[in-house]
Amino acid sequence: MSELYLGRTVPRLKDWGGRLPVALVFPEAAQHGLSTLGWQVVYRLLADREELAVERFFWDPTSPRPRSVDSGRDLGLFPLVLFSLNFEGDFPTVLRLLQDADIPVTREERPSWPLVLAGGPLAFLNPFPLLPALDGIFVGEAEAGLNPVIDVIARVWNSGGEKSLALGEMARMPGMLVPGQSLLPVHRLVHVSGSGELSEPAYSCFISSEAQFRDMLLLEVNRGCPYGCRFCAAGSIYKPPRHARIETLKEIVSRCQPQKVGLVGTALTDWPDLLPFLRWLQERKIKFSLSSMRADGLTEELLQFLRHTGTRSVTLALEGASRRLRRAMNKHFSEEAFLEAVTRISRMQFGTLKLYMITGWPGENEEDWAEFESFLVRIDEARRAGQGNRKKGVELISLSVSCLVPKAWTPLQWAAIPDEEWFKAAMRRFKKAVGRFKGMRFAGENPGQARVQMFLARGGEEIFPCLERAAEVGLGAAVREFDELVREVLHRPLARDSVFPWERLDIGVSRKFLYSEWTKYRHGLVSPPCPDSGCGECRLCGMDLLPSLSHGS
Ligand code: SF4
Repeated sequence: MSELYLGRTVPRLKDWGGRLPVALVFPEAAQHGLSTLGWQVVYRLLADREELAVERFFWDPTSPRPRSVDSGRDLGLFPLVLFSLNFEGDFPTVLRLLQDADIPVTREERPSWPLVLAGGPLAFLNPFPLLPALDGIFVGEAEAGLNPVIDVIARVWNSGGEKSLALGEMARMPGMLVPGQSLLPVHRLVHVSGSGELSEPAYSCFISSEAQFRDMLLLEVNRGCPYGCRFCAAGSIYKPPRHARIETLKEIVSRCQPQKVGLVGTALTDWPDLLPFLRWLQERKIKFSLSSMRADGLTEELLQFLRHTGTRSVTLALEGASRRLRRAMNKHFSEEAFLEAVTRISRMQFGTLKLYMITGWPGENEEDWAEFESFLVRIDEARRAGQGNRKKGVELISLSVSCLVPKAWTPLQWAAIPDEEWFKAAMRRFKKAVGRFKGMRFAGENPGQARVQMFLARGGEEIFPCLERAAEVGLGAAVREFDELVREVLHRPLARDSVFPWERLDIGVSRKFLYSEWTKYRHGLVSPPCPDSGCGECRLCGMDLLPSLSHGS
């Protein structure tokens, strides 16, 4: 494996003498951790501090005991274990890693060190299924306040103090949830500079041949998204939307000197400096790739540039089967702009167009599917219009359909979930519709697996026994054994005043706003995007940054 850490070949391994040893655990295979920005931000934050000795752990099913990839040390030797929570499916792996390291799995069985903490995007979405295993949860963006928490732990550990002493202090710190001790709700910590910019964009500190995005420097262009799509958790939990400055990104690239850059952001084409930055990369002969883009952001100029620099495939999100559904989800989607983009993409001879869609929307029915079939005809026509007489252009349209997982902190948290048979019927319908066209391909998510994800996303501590069982027999088998609980969680009645497990957190967006957006979903009413001027006087979503604000430079 070739790996670069901030220009050096390997991270510097520090001696433990006088330092707090920290295990930073990504509970998935190394290739995913090495492609996950948030986890790497935390690594860099901690590795930069001389008084800490941070080492990396990944999930390796071939290893009987979890061992540091840096020193080979056993996880059980570390007084501080930090888990990065990114996907609900990782919950059982967290328990399995603790078990394999002979660390008592629940905090009740673990009165003394190690201290087990969790952070990451799921920590401010819904970490509660895992709560019985955790001594604490850091709720928010690491740059905004993880270091002071680590300071407390290091001080208590270095002075030979008890874990309970550290937890008592941590319970009162901003962004910390210490079960049974912190005042609820715990406010999310967010890093917003005085100018409202993303002053510290995330970037990979590891550039690795083993990463999913091989040998690539991942670079965060923007965080949060202004459009307010009603199903999107990232749009909620990363509010307010913030753009990085082009100078900051250029400086990072110049320092790291990568061969490839992957631009990451929830609203890439909203970044006014996208094209100038891509040109700057091209002048330096640095390859690049972009995550999915909005159809209305694909200008002629941007597409020309992408095509001339070797991009062969474009991904567009369609999200819903019909105009009615896209309106209900507040997608701000124009069919005309979409079809124009398809023609343009085909005219410029991109080989593949990937379309992404979701099924399982509240109220989705036969009429929506019929409309989708007609829309596919228009998409095919738009593609052919771009091909012209030369019959060149988009050769393959690949439609990928996933099942809606109603997420915490979105207006759809009140949505009822269709049963598995409904999803199967929907997938059959989409597959058949796509099958009628030459040069179109269909890929559908497995509804059974999606159902497991919905269960994990919606549950609270009551599902912990199922996670413990999953650590032994795998998620699929455990979920089958706990079928009654799964049904109870997935189909619990949801009323306006239903209290969700995750409401022990406060991520800044108000319940009143979310419920009014849910009402608007049901009435097919749209809401405006965040204003360009930023939060300023806007209080539309209830976001009041003052209680959770951490001012940067
Ligand atoms: S307060 Fe307004 S601008 Fe700020 S995140 Fe909410 S909706 Fe967007």
